[in-house]
Amino acid sequence: MTSQRTRLRMVERLRRKGIRDERVLAAMAAVPRHLFVDEALASRAYEDTALPIGFSQTISQPYVVARMLESLLGDTSVPRKVLEVGTGCGYQAAVLAQLGGEVYSIERIRALLERARVNLRALRLSNLRLTHADGSAGLQVAAPFDAIVVAAAASCVPEALLRQLAPGGRMVLPLKTGSAPRAAQRLALYERGVRGITESVLDEVLFVPLETGKL
Ligand code: SAH
Repeated sequence: MTSQRTRLRMVERLRRKGIRDERVLAAMAAVPRHLFVDEALASRAYEDTALPIGFSQTISQPYVVARMLESLLGDTSVPRKVLEVGTGCGYQAAVLAQLGGEVYSIERIRALLERARVNLRALRLSNLRLTHADGSAGLQVAAPFDAIVVAAAASCVPEALLRQLAPGGRMVLPLKTGSAPRAAQRLALYERGVRGITESVLDEVLFVPLETGKL
């Protein structure tokens, strides 16, 4: 149920659903998602669904992780320095680290970050660093980033994140389309080109909200 074969079936499903980037598919084939969920849910780890990870948070659906990372990479080479906001259980951070590059991931809930550390230990990813902070401020000490990915929905783009995007850099984040708590969300892609920032709007998604402060 948690074998390499089950994981490869998940990857085949992602392919059928339209994920094309072989780098993303290979990284997802390499990361054992069952290590990131509670033992009681491990048998469902390779279903294409979000699952609870405690603290009212979820591990993102595999398709959504794949879609975000595919959009983040576009047709560029693997980014040298990546920032993830919203580590959660650490799954997407592990996939990012598997892609290569230097990965920084920020989580605002300390207990969740500690759990992510435990989940990640066995994978020995030496290119992944975790930080306990409010990710809306980015991570100035390690900036600028070639890629930024936000795993929680914001009402508007955090300015600090845009500022920390390197020339040619790309950022993907879910944005709420209105002020109601259940307002629809869409993935947005920001690129810093020679003439400034451009925005494109991608798929409709459903993420937990980006919150302020840390716990
Ligand atoms: N990347 C995870 C998804 C985690 S869900 C995965 O691989 O499945 C989103 C996470 O964002 C939650 O853990 C939540 O606590 C965190 N979060 C929300 N607002 C945040 C903020 N301002 N800074 C850092 N983390 C935040």
